[in-house]
Amino acid sequence: MVRSLTKTCWWPNESAPCPNASATVDEPLRKRLTESSGREELIRIPVLVTFLVISGLSNAQAPATTSAQTLEPLDASGEITYFIATGAPESRFRPSDTDLVALALQAWARSTEGKLRFSPAPESSAVLRVYWVAADFGQYGEMRPIVVDGRRGAAVYIRPDTEALGAEIAIRSREDSLFRDTVVYLTCLHELGHALGLEHTAEFADIMYFFGFGGDIVAFFERYRSQLRSREDIAGVAGLSEGDLAQLRSLYSVR
Ligand SMILES: [Zn+2]
Repeated sequence: MVRSLTKTCWWPNESAPCPNASATVDEPLRKRLTESSGREELIRIPVLVTFLVISGLSNAQAPATTSAQTLEPLDASGEITYFIATGAPESRFRPSDTDLVALALQAWARSTEGKLRFSPAPESSAVLRVYWVAADFGQYGEMRPIVVDGRRGAAVYIRPDTEALGAEIAIRSREDSLFRDTVVYLTCLHELGHALGLEHTAEFADIMYFFGFGGDIVAFFERYRSQLRSREDIAGVAGLSEGDLAQLRSLYSVR
């Protein structure tokens, strides 16, 4: 049986600071955020992961905040099963995108000294499920916790239509298919990071960086793209920072 919990995270195509952030949190947290003088303090507040900032979205359209319990490590005592769906045509999914999910799982797994092991499974029993969905409000992806036979799991939604992620991303993706694959791969990596329990950070170097903090988002992707000569290189360039790995190792007790 599968029970869907509250969705937690979007990775919006928005490089502006979080203008609506304090409007979506409860009053004590709003006070702490208002009094906070720096991002270091912000990232210690787990509920920050629930912020959604998309230009043009009203507060009424934005999802409400969810509890910190939406991000937790998965049970890694055995193999973590996963299922990758076939994308609907309107998602602009390419069959080769399936490889990018598998590569993202491998990237997270290989820094854990064997503690994270993934294996494919049918959708009905898979703890991790990846779906390709149509573009919506410039989002890159989303993760929703689910419960599968009493165990925590996650449904990850990837939006591979780079035409809908802003003019700069669209143009670069049209002229360079490896840039397009970079966007899809890094989105998989980020959302699977949430599925594994990782929170957002304010460090631009991290794959778990939250775009709401600003910065050059095209440069964020170019940094990874510049390390590739061919698509095959994705298997050898994880795209994870020391900060990402530290967060992962902490969650899964890897030394
Ligand atoms: Zn995120």
